[in-house]
Amino acid sequence: MSDAPITISLISLGCPKNLVDSEVLIGRLWDGPFDMSSEPAGSDVVVVNTCGFIGPARDESIETVEEMLRLKERGDVKGVVVAGCLVARLGAPLAERLPGVDAFLDLSDYSDAPDVLRRIAGRASSPARSEAGAIFAGGAEKTAESDLGRGILTLPHTAYLRISEGCDRKCSFCAIPLIRGTQRSKPLEILVEEAAQLAGLGVRELSLVGEETTAWGSDLGYAYGEGITELLGALDDIEGIDWIRLLYAHPGSFRPSLVEAIRDLESVAKYVDMPVQHGDDEVLKAMKRGTPVERIRGIVRDLRAAVPFVTLRTTILVGFPGETDERFENLMAFLEEARFDRLGCFVYSREEGTSSYGLEGAVPTEVAEERRDRVMTLQQRIARERNEALVGYELDVMVDVAGDDGTGLGRTEGDAPQIDSAVHLTGEGLAPGSIVVGRVTGTAGYDLEATVA
Ligand code: SF4
Repeated sequence: MSDAPITISLISLGCPKNLVDSEVLIGRLWDGPFDMSSEPAGSDVVVVNTCGFIGPARDESIETVEEMLRLKERGDVKGVVVAGCLVARLGAPLAERLPGVDAFLDLSDYSDAPDVLRRIAGRASSPARSEAGAIFAGGAEKTAESDLGRGILTLPHTAYLRISEGCDRKCSFCAIPLIRGTQRSKPLEILVEEAAQLAGLGVRELSLVGEETTAWGSDLGYAYGEGITELLGALDDIEGIDWIRLLYAHPGSFRPSLVEAIRDLESVAKYVDMPVQHGDDEVLKAMKRGTPVERIRGIVRDLRAAVPFVTLRTTILVGFPGETDERFENLMAFLEEARFDRLGCFVYSREEGTSSYGLEGAVPTEVAEERRDRVMTLQQRIARERNEALVGYELDVMVDVAGDDGTGLGRTEGDAPQIDSAVHLTGEGLAPGSIVVGRVTGTAGYDLEATVA
């Protein structure tokens, strides 16, 4: 048997939570005999970590796997492995849909991955495939410690910290609880250990992720919506972390104590990602969000009043069954008033197993797409006005990439990595991971231009 390393190429699709799963899988391979490659062709095995959240994401996952299977047919890779949410959602029928896949790894701690990859690469005594066809494996159920010691796929100075897994809510459009189960928060001391470990590796920015981060700890005995404040306080004390960013907040568990924490804690970024989904009460009720518009308005008002220059990001879903023209106009009026700094807008996808699946009042796709375009056109104007108002100001910018020609790319405290905008920097001494003061000189679409002050 050859001693050469087995080359693995990993393609991670979907959201940051899936990326953390990919990082856990890579962490399992530390002990060898594996090498990672960014190029699928020529690798021994390609792993596709899939997303199964909504139709378009599933299509992208399946197309990516099919592309990898074509590489296998041409002899450019030995094996193809499919992992992640799509496996959890569709299970065995996926093997019929994708013949040629060597193994399916279900959502787990991925402790089986090294063995499975060795078998596929022909480096194990057991055969690559059972008589029944593809291998179905994964590992043990995840525990609070499963994310410790994972590999980092983001830029070295920024990392995700997954604080919980699963969700107790039952939003009527959402399949996530079907895939990832009910909420399991990771205990505070484990999160502090994980964050300190990441800081020791040179990470300066942590983005907190989970299905509903503001509900963190409600399954560990903390009062609903209050645990997150305590967690932020503990993470704030960790040496070396400059920005702690809260993603996936939910207005239903957003408490006044959190507004104070964002205002007062030094390393907590003045930034909140709070998907509100809609701005009409009837639609929100049908979505089973549990948060009337007035409550969302109140949180936005409180944050803006307490935290100067806070950046608010949200996600909107259009085309939900029963979204009449009038209800959509209510959404537009709400967005005009709330003026979120960042916004993503998606078209409703009818998902089997969710409680909105059988709702009447379907919105035709072209109408829903037109509405999405109107939301994004409004948002472009809001973002442009906001960016123009920043010209002349000096802002802290974390440098992500530095060229050797005195230019670089960075982000302000108001920009989450890989999600929000960038700052195009010019100046001396730019080094990735450092924070510089940039004087904003102009705008470029959603981005800013700045020189180092
Ligand atoms: S809060 Fe709602 S939308 Fe978010 S993961 Fe839970 S069920 Fe899905």
